[in-house]
Parts: sequence; structure tokens; C-alpha cells
Amino acid sequence: MKKLLVSEQEIKEICARIGKEITDKFIGDENPPIIIGVLKGAAPFMMDLIKEIKCFVELDFVQYSSYQRTKSTGVVVMKKDISTDIKGRNVIIVEDIVDTGKTFAKMVEYLHTYEPLHIYTCTLLDKKARREVEFECDFVGKEIPNYFVYGYGLDYLEYFRNTKEIYYIDDEKIIIDELNNKKEWNY
Ligand code: 5GP
Repeated sequence: MKKLLVSEQEIKEICARIGKEITDKFIGDENPPIIIGVLKGAAPFMMDLIKEIKCFVELDFVQYSSYQRTKSTGVVVMKKDISTDIKGRNVIIVEDIVDTGKTFAKMVEYLHTYEPLHIYTCTLLDKKARREVEFECDFVGKEIPNYFVYGYGLDYLEYFRNTKEIYYIDDEKIIIDELNNKKEWNY
């Protein structure tokens, strides 16, 4: 059986709360933030979040990879760079999840080379106990225990990104069985 971790309702509440936090911070600012979503995982969260932001924003995307199957490799490889000039601009990086913190730390370090005014960080989920590098997010949706989670952007072997809720794996055999029988969709 699939195990629910974050419901659709809770995700809505998180988007509304962080959307308001970002609005309160940037409303009236003549330097609107550029929101950079980290592909592919953060896409659903970013799309729901931006609709809750009631001030001017620009959007861009970046893509890195650091995970293989369910383990962090610790090696961050860039696959797609931003296409906006962020020099002198406020930037908010939006991630699906922070685990060891290595990906976010590397991304912040890399984007700093473009000389933005300030880089803010935002994540839907935070596995704080797993942190290996010192890293605090400015906007956090929900702190979660050390589970491997999937759904709502987060994948298991590239599948399950298209669910409205977030699940966790406590028995990998169950999800492997589901992938071996793709005719049935139980979400
Ligand atoms: P970190 O560098 O912080 O260890 O890893 C961050 C990246 O690893 C996230 O952007 C995400 O792609 C992936 N990741 C970390 N934990 C999970 C998880 O529980 N489920 C999934 N699907 N991806 C994860």
C-alpha cells in the first residue's frame, strides 16, 4: 500500500503561506525577484506557488542532477543553465526537497558567479536531519523525517511526478511491484 506523507490540502496551504511570505517581502520593491525552479522535481510546486504570489516576478529554470535511484551521489552535474540575466537582481531558487544540502549549496555558489543582488532559497520539503553541509532555506514548506519520498514532482525512477500528493517508501518492494505492472495506476 502507498503511504501518504503530504496531502493535496496541506500542499495548498504550504503554497498559500510561502506565497504570502514572498509577497510580503517583495511587494513594492522595484527589483522584482526572478524565481528559478529546479527541474524537474520543483516544477509542480513552482507552478502552484507562483499563483499565490501577488507581486511582479520573472521565471526561469535550471537543471542539475545529483540522485541515482534513491541515493544521493554527492556529485552535482549541471544539465541546463538559466537564460535570464540575473546580475543585480533578487533571485529565489525553488527546490522540491533539500536532503544533504549539497545540491542547493552548489547551486547557490554557481549562481553567485552571475553577480545577483541576493539569492533566496525556497524548498517544499526539508530533510533537515540529513544535512551534510551547513545550509538553511529562507522559505520552507515542511520539515520531514528521513524517508525517500515521491509524488508531486518528486520521482521514483522518473515515475510518479504527476500525483497531487506526496508519498513515502517504507518497503521498496511494493513500489518495484507497481512499476512492474504499469497497466494499473493506484494514485
Ligand atoms: P541533496 O543534494 O540535498 O542531498 O539532494 C537534493 C536533491 O536530491 C533534490 O533536488 C532531489 O532531486 C533529490 N532528492 C533528495 N531526497 C529525495 C527524496 O526523498 N525523493 C526524491 N524523489 N528525490 C530526492
